[in-house]
Amino acid sequence: MGAVLALAAVVVGFVLLGPRDCGCAPPGEVRTPIPSDAALLPSDFVLTAPWEAGERRRIIRGYNVAAHQGFARPNRSNDAYALDFNLERGEPVLAAAPGVVTYAGPASGGWESFGNIVLLEHAGGVSSLYAHLDAVAVRERESLERGAQLGTAGNSGGVRTHLHLSLYRDVQLARGERGTGPFGGASVLPEPFGREARVGLSFGQCLTADDGG
Ligand SMILES: [Zn+2]
Repeated sequence: MGAVLALAAVVVGFVLLGPRDCGCAPPGEVRTPIPSDAALLPSDFVLTAPWEAGERRRIIRGYNVAAHQGFARPNRSNDAYALDFNLERGEPVLAAAPGVVTYAGPASGGWESFGNIVLLEHAGGVSSLYAHLDAVAVRERESLERGAQLGTAGNSGGVRTHLHLSLYRDVQLARGERGTGPFGGASVLPEPFGREARVGLSFGQCLTADDGG
């Protein structure tokens, strides 16, 4: 009887918690409705999860939560559809699509909470921002292939270690006295993401990085 109960506990535990490491919500369990007025990626735009191929990472903050709300005007970043992923400190952060580095270094002038950032400009007026980096491995005007390492994940900006990723259309970069950081433009939905379907990414969901092909 005791053995049966123990086995039952293991089975129930597995069903409820899933295999080790996870913390990932079961597929389809969590979905954020896709806002009908959201800016979308161009239809031919392929976005690759910006960490090492084959690795699975969890969304620890999704669309439009407190930390991901901004205003599309100067000195605000428009980050409604940003995603935070549970990368560890020192883990490589990769370009989510081919692009040119428009800024690499510490954010300033109101964006300090982003810490060290890389802003990449892609085709179609789309830019991607990678924030809270531990180290930055690229320079402005450098061209990056998809999957090129642009830095490592960290906790710069005074946060717990994670990767903040946001996409913009027609974003601008503040410079000089106003500091360095993105503002304006439109926050772009980061979907479809790699091989994941367009479902509305949200807290608890996990994504696997693929080769973008
Ligand atoms: Zn974030």
